[in-house]
Amino acid sequence: MATMKPSTLRIGYRYRPGRLASNYDAIVIGSGIGGLTTAAMLSDLGWRVCVLEQHYTAGGYTHSYERNGYEWDVGVHYIGDVGAETRTRKMFDYLTDGQLQWAPMNAEYDRFYIGNKVFNAVAGREEFRANLVRQFPNEEEAIDRYMALLRQVGGALAGFGMGRAIAPWMRSLATPYLKWKTPSFMFRKTYEVLSELTDDQDLIAVICGQWGDMGLPPKQSAFMVHAMIARHYLYGGFYPVGGSWRIADTIIPKIQKSGGEVFTYANVSRIVVEQGVVKGVEMADGHRIDCGCVISSAGVDNTFGHLLDEEVVKKAGYPPLIKKVRPSVGHLCLYIGLRHTADELGLPKTNFWIYPHNDYDRALADFVADENAPFPVVYISFPSAKDPEYLDRHPDTATIEIVAPAPYEQFEAWQGTTWGKRGADYEALKVKLSERLLGYLYDKLPQIEGKVDYHELSTPLSTEWFSAYRHGELYGLDHTPERLQQDWLTPRTRIDGLWLTGQDVLTCGVTGAMMAGMLTVTAMMGLRKISPLMQRINGQH
Ligand SMILES: Cc1cc2nc3c(=O)[nH]c(=O)nc-3n(C[C@H](O)[C@H](O)[C@H](O)COP(=O)(O)OP(=O)(O)OC[C@H]3O[C@@H](n4cnc5c(N)ncnc54)[C@H](O)[C@@H]3O)c2cc1C
Repeated sequence: MATMKPSTLRIGYRYRPGRLASNYDAIVIGSGIGGLTTAAMLSDLGWRVCVLEQHYTAGGYTHSYERNGYEWDVGVHYIGDVGAETRTRKMFDYLTDGQLQWAPMNAEYDRFYIGNKVFNAVAGREEFRANLVRQFPNEEEAIDRYMALLRQVGGALAGFGMGRAIAPWMRSLATPYLKWKTPSFMFRKTYEVLSELTDDQDLIAVICGQWGDMGLPPKQSAFMVHAMIARHYLYGGFYPVGGSWRIADTIIPKIQKSGGEVFTYANVSRIVVEQGVVKGVEMADGHRIDCGCVISSAGVDNTFGHLLDEEVVKKAGYPPLIKKVRPSVGHLCLYIGLRHTADELGLPKTNFWIYPHNDYDRALADFVADENAPFPVVYISFPSAKDPEYLDRHPDTATIEIVAPAPYEQFEAWQGTTWGKRGADYEALKVKLSERLLGYLYDKLPQIEGKVDYHELSTPLSTEWFSAYRHGELYGLDHTPERLQQDWLTPRTRIDGLWLTGQDVLTCGVTGAMMAGMLTVTAMMGLRKISPLMQRINGQH
């Protein structure tokens, strides 16, 4: 195999100890959207913030990379709720000073191929409902009850988030109110809730057709997260104009304005804690950065399992708690380049979700037991079709991304090997998997066959290598009902001066991790102090 050249699409400032300022008000570990949101809001409040990112480019899962004249996104295919003046849109506008634009996908933003049947998700609450009723005319009552449940979850989410942000003493006072505001079905399994509405397994499958957006099928996932995702995309899917790397690119100036910086190649090896109090971080090169405030956006597993000393974690009582959560599944992504434009190839602004049949849990279990079983889900996205500026950057080309789940265990044999040099057997496995994934693409879009110019496959080991998720996990912690009821999974930790943010604090998704960033700043500053800033953000037009 030819040696792969590293991507030259890089944002952020390369870390060197001599480039650090002498005094930071806060250190953020990880430059994903969670870390960047926290850093940008603190910077706006006048703090000087140092963001440390181990990767060669900033953005975490929102980063993009380019090779051979193509550009791909690794963890952003579509974002919901940004087509109108929603809280999500206002938050993005605030963080990026209005520099980030959004391009709508087709009204049919998701297409589900379930066995030999095809269904679409259609943008707009009424349109979404009407489309479901058209496809399941006998299930109108169940569909209306489902839509009502989505509304109820929507009403309860602010309380759930607030419960995570407030101080423990306040939380115990507020518990009866928060419990009253939080319907218990939010923490039941998705399938249990839906099967009380209908027996129609196809309808349940269509409603759960986006389960890949959180990585857990309906018999395992929490209904709350299902509902959050369904609501998030109810008004359609949108793509960040210019590619997903523009998200970090447009946020970083806000951090720099207060004297802060986002450093890349900045691998934190340890959070320094002395007598139960955070004192700073130690870098992989041995350099120590002193600071009494450290915010980890590197995930719960990294933070408690690797960055903190075992003794510190034990003393704070975390070990039994950490056993209650587990990493999410890994994934494969086939990154494809074509020497034709999306228009020439007829690529849609619609994501494809391909399922062998309507029992998603069984399909996943079958695949985990036998890696040669059909993929439980194959997701196909057409980023160059979604981005109105793609051709300006990469003329006469198009890109496609194909994602499928892949348990980390299937790749454990190559753990610890170097990216690009994992050996012939690993490459042979990748060829086999790539061919399988291409088969799904050609089956749905036969005109593509023979037109693929370039492709490369990432595995859970690539996720570990580039994004530092040690189990190659796709979405941080698994979104089980148990995880969502862990009241220690909050921005505030039991270690003085250490805060958490990012997808493990709230939920996965760019918006979930961004809102976690906002919650972390709320928890740090307190409701009263943060309120003028929140009013400013929500008052923007
Ligand atoms: C294949 C895929 C597709 C997805 N598609 C979508 C989508 O279409 N829409 C959507 O909304 N969401 C999507 N997501 C989910 C979304 O991208 C994530 O939930 C979100 O971006 C997570 O943000 P975060 O800030 O919590 O974490 P991350 O973005 O993972 O950031 C954490 C950062 O911490 C860094 N780090 C870890 N350890 C250290 C250390 N020791 N020192 C320094 N840095 C460290 C990592 O390198 C990483 O950059 C997708 C995810 C994947 C993987």
